[in-house]
Amino acid sequence: MNDILATPIEYLKGIGPQRGEVLRKEARIFTFGDLLHYFPFRYIDKTRFQKIEEIPSLNTAVQLKVKIVSLREQKIKRTTRLEAKVKDDTGMLTLNWFNAVRWIKPKLEIGREIIIYGKPNYFKGNFVITHPEIDFDLNQKGGLEAVYPSGEKLQRAGFNSRGFKKAVNQLLPSLKGKIVESLPSSIIGEAGLISKEEAFFKIHNPQNLDQAKKANARIKFEELFYLQMELLTRKKIAEQKISGLKMTQVGDVFMEFYKNHLPFELTGAQKRVVKEIRADLASGIHMNRLLQGDVGSGKTLVALLVALIANGNGFQACIMAPTEILAQQHYNSLSEFLKDLDVRVELLTGSVKQKDRKPIHEGLEDGSINILVGTHALLESKVKYKNLGLAIIDEQHRFGVAQRSKLWKKNALPPHILVMTATPIPRTLAMTFYGDLDVSVIDEMPPGRKDIVTSHRFDSSRLRVLEFIKEQLDLGRQAYVVYPLIEESEKLDYKNLMDGYEAMTRKFPLPNYRVSIVHGRMKPEDKDFEMQQFAKGNTHIMVATTVIEVGVNVPNASVMIIESAEKFGLSQLHQLRGRVGRGANQSYCILMTGEKLSADAKTRLQTMVATNDGFKISEADLKLRGPGNLLGTQQSGILDLKLADLSKDSQLVSLSRDIAQNLLEKDPKLEAKEHQELKRKLKNILSSKPNWSRIS
Ligand code: ADP
Ligand code: MG
Repeated sequence: MNDILATPIEYLKGIGPQRGEVLRKEARIFTFGDLLHYFPFRYIDKTRFQKIEEIPSLNTAVQLKVKIVSLREQKIKRTTRLEAKVKDDTGMLTLNWFNAVRWIKPKLEIGREIIIYGKPNYFKGNFVITHPEIDFDLNQKGGLEAVYPSGEKLQRAGFNSRGFKKAVNQLLPSLKGKIVESLPSSIIGEAGLISKEEAFFKIHNPQNLDQAKKANARIKFEELFYLQMELLTRKKIAEQKISGLKMTQVGDVFMEFYKNHLPFELTGAQKRVVKEIRADLASGIHMNRLLQGDVGSGKTLVALLVALIANGNGFQACIMAPTEILAQQHYNSLSEFLKDLDVRVELLTGSVKQKDRKPIHEGLEDGSINILVGTHALLESKVKYKNLGLAIIDEQHRFGVAQRSKLWKKNALPPHILVMTATPIPRTLAMTFYGDLDVSVIDEMPPGRKDIVTSHRFDSSRLRVLEFIKEQLDLGRQAYVVYPLIEESEKLDYKNLMDGYEAMTRKFPLPNYRVSIVHGRMKPEDKDFEMQQFAKGNTHIMVATTVIEVGVNVPNASVMIIESAEKFGLSQLHQLRGRVGRGANQSYCILMTGEKLSADAKTRLQTMVATNDGFKISEADLKLRGPGNLLGTQQSGILDLKLADLSKDSQLVSLSRDIAQNLLEKDPKLEAKEHQELKRKLKNILSSKPNWSRIS
């Protein structure tokens, strides 16, 4: 039925295997359907002519019908400049060409009328357009011209905006009658929408702005409507609570630890979330809770307290981390916290030797191990518990659904699940992201924590920055130097790292200090080894790509230099910065960039310099990039919005929510005949995405 949309893109006339490859790689266009969904991001309005006096502002392209009044050629060094003064009945304007003069000049003559299109600048009291598009056919009827996103590699393969336009127009005629309506007609009527087919045709080829708007609204509505349907369905599923292990008491170990061994007063937020989790554990209903807390907010201690509750009720607990080093660090801090208590904690990771595993396996089966810390090695089938009552998962986005489901099966009744994350997602979006998870938030930092001092420096002041690092190292501190990962090529990535570091130390040798280097091409064991060296203080400078992003805790590290900081996204910068400021010392983060920066890059850098608050940063990120691009969501496809924007399309969001709610009230099981296509689509969506709580 929709098969034509699944046709591989290379089969479209004029594309072929090579250009198809570029589309796949650079634009993620794999099929005809993907091309259909490759939307223009704006339109050039060629439906009307502006007058010179109504030129609105700079940076907005205008279309003008003008007469040439003078022409002048000028040689400036080796370039030739051609200047044409043009006028309409409201004013004058200057057109400029550099170099292309020989080609353009013969076509221009004084007195001739032309249509020009371009972005005006303001220069010495005059509007100037440099290299305008020109049309000599005064009778041409301009429409609305779609402008498609492109990039350097796409352009090289002929996919500038016009190339995309051509491909889309090659495709569209073959889709007539093949775009299946996916909204019930009652909803189309209620929301005042155009049909799906019309929307897809018009979004690529609108005759006027009104058509473009209607097409846009229809496609946005559909995205939001299905999102709402998905959320409402998930919520309903989540409300069908399943029974869980009952942990009625706080227990002696918890009390003993809390009263006599707590190294510091809990923050109010930590107390609150422990309470929330305690209530879940005692309720007899299976817990699926997400614990969200900014880097350094003290999630580990919460995890320990909760694990002790499980222990006190006669259950075992496990804590799972995404990497060996994180598991090791959790194990170390737990062992330190518990050193005077009779709680047995063990560590199980891939690098634990076979002969050392046996006592761990036995201890788990006979119940003498109370808390097991580890990596996904915990999921191996050999790992059997006596009675696993609680599983805590740190940094959720590194774990897949399949892995979590293995965890579930480690006990007859599934263990309670606590997922911990530092990914700061704006509250407004929490429901969208977490769907059916209950959420607890640690929104307060431990007292006495010093904000990290963040500054932005240009490459030109590198020497000063290096002097500063040396001062910090001389004080006995450690430093990170982080380079961006160059995705296209791991080789380049490595080269970048080594070149960068060598160049840095050539100019400013730091002979007394040892360096660890960690990059994406290393084997995990080697990475871990280097991280350990740094964590133990055996090395002083950690030079790395972004592999250090998650969770590493080296409290003595007080400086982080982020190279080419403009290449990082905001949340990534924030996560990176969170690796310093973990001890008592004042910490610093220095964002290094070249002089040339895009407006967005400037905003990102300014935001980082201005605040340490993860939520503020994610709000800023949301504004800059739109929710579809927030950390981790794009890859995971959790939020599949192409056009709609949760932060901007609030009216459509509430309209779609109301309509979805209404529909589910009237037809909760989607049994009506006209809801069958909707039901099918919704089922697809639900089964294609991770579902935190109901894993079967
Ligand atoms: P994260 O939430 O990023 O995992 P951690 O659990 O690693 O943060 O905690 C960061 C640091 O703060 C640790 O050194 C921890 O011992 C310390 N810490 C945690 N809770 C408190 C508290 N209530 N008061 C003071 N320090 C705390
Ligand atoms: Mg942590």
